[in-house]
Parts: sequence; C-alpha cells; structure tokens
Amino acid sequence: MNQKIKILVIEDEKNILSFITSVLTAQQYQVIPASTGRDGLSQAASQCPDLILLDLGLPDMDGMNIIKKVRAWTSVPIIVISARTQEDDKVQALDNGADDYITKPFGNPELLARIRTALRHSNRMQTDDPLALRPYRSGNLHIDFEKHLVTRDGQEIHLTQNEFKIVALLAKNCGRVLTYDRLIEHIWGPYSENDNTILRVNMANIRRKLEPNPAEPIYIFTEIGIGYRMAEED
Ligand code: CA
Repeated sequence: MNQKIKILVIEDEKNILSFITSVLTAQQYQVIPASTGRDGLSQAASQCPDLILLDLGLPDMDGMNIIKKVRAWTSVPIIVISARTQEDDKVQALDNGADDYITKPFGNPELLARIRTALRHSNRMQTDDPLALRPYRSGNLHIDFEKHLVTRDGQEIHLTQNEFKIVALLAKNCGRVLTYDRLIEHIWGPYSENDNTILRVNMANIRRKLEPNPAEPIYIFTEIGIGYRMAEED
C-alpha cells in the first residue's frame, strides 16, 4: 500500500482550514492541521510532512519567521497562502525560501496544481534527476539545455546569452514563480542593482521571439509585482 503524502496546513481561519482539509483528503493526501504558528512548527518537526501550506497572517507568529525557522533544517516545499493585496509579502516569502504562493480566494484546481508542482520539484531534487538533463517541452516549444537550443514548431529561435539564461532558469522551474530579484541575481550576479528595467527589456525581447502572440503569452506568464512563471510541461 502506498504511504499517503502528508501535508501540514498552518491556517488560523477555521473555514479555510476545513475547506483545504476536505479538498486534500478527497485527493488521498493526509492532512495535518495546525491553527497557530507554534503548533505548526512543532508539527513540522515531529511529523516530517512532505509539504507545508502556510498562511502568512497567523495570530501568534509572523509567517515569515516560520519560513525561516523551517528552512534552517529542511527543504520541504512550502506554499504560502496569502491575501491578494500582499504583493510585498509574497516576494519576501519567496525570497525567504518559500517555493510558491497561492492567493485567497482560490479554487481546488489551482490549489492542487500548486501542490503537485511543488511535490514534483522536491522529488526531482531528491532523486537527483534534474530537468536540466533532458529537454523541456510545452506545446510547440522545445528547449535543449545542453545544446543551448530553443525551437518552436521545429524552427530554431535565436536568443542572446542572457535571454537564454532567463528562459532556461524559468523552464527548469516550470510551474513555479521566480521573483524579479532571483532572476536578476541569477543572470547579472548578486551585486547587480535590483532594477527590473533591464529584466523587463529582456523579457519583452524573449516574448517577441518565443510567443506566437507576445500580448497574450502562453509560455511565460507575468505575476504582477512579483516575477515570472513558465508554463508546466505537457
Ligand atoms: Ca490568517
């Protein structure tokens, strides 16, 4: 018998906690509920969950501190549950080590998709089978990381070195949001200025080359105020 995947849900709002619990239980996940930060941290340590869903607004602790504390000893995927108006919090949570976020109010498909993506990335790391060793495929887009080759509909797309670096990082993390700072640091180094302008210029060029219709992207999505997210593989 397969052991169930354990998901720790740290959320103080009872109706959201019970909604999430029923959605996850129906999908055969095992839910460990926690309604305070203190309880969440102790459950994280004692239960060793496979994934943590974390509400940032808790009565007893700042969710940011929970991310930092958990990250001090485990790389378990953390998905932050956040309100729509808290763009800065989302960025800070991601930069502190959260894997992704989901915005209230959210529906089942979105919640389950985020969880599957986060679990897949964590499995990938554990099994040492990085996406980098094989090409990325989504729709008609194909990226061969080793050959530095990007094709769409079989036609080679010529990207500059920095454009390729951006696309490759997003593709290796497909389905997950990457913050502007994370991308800038990866491409231009840790001491580069946190100025999004040059990244935006690069992204405009990438979209012009990559997307069938740059005004309605189907491969690289903008998360307003936060960063970019590349489409999942097929
Ligand atoms: Ca809350």
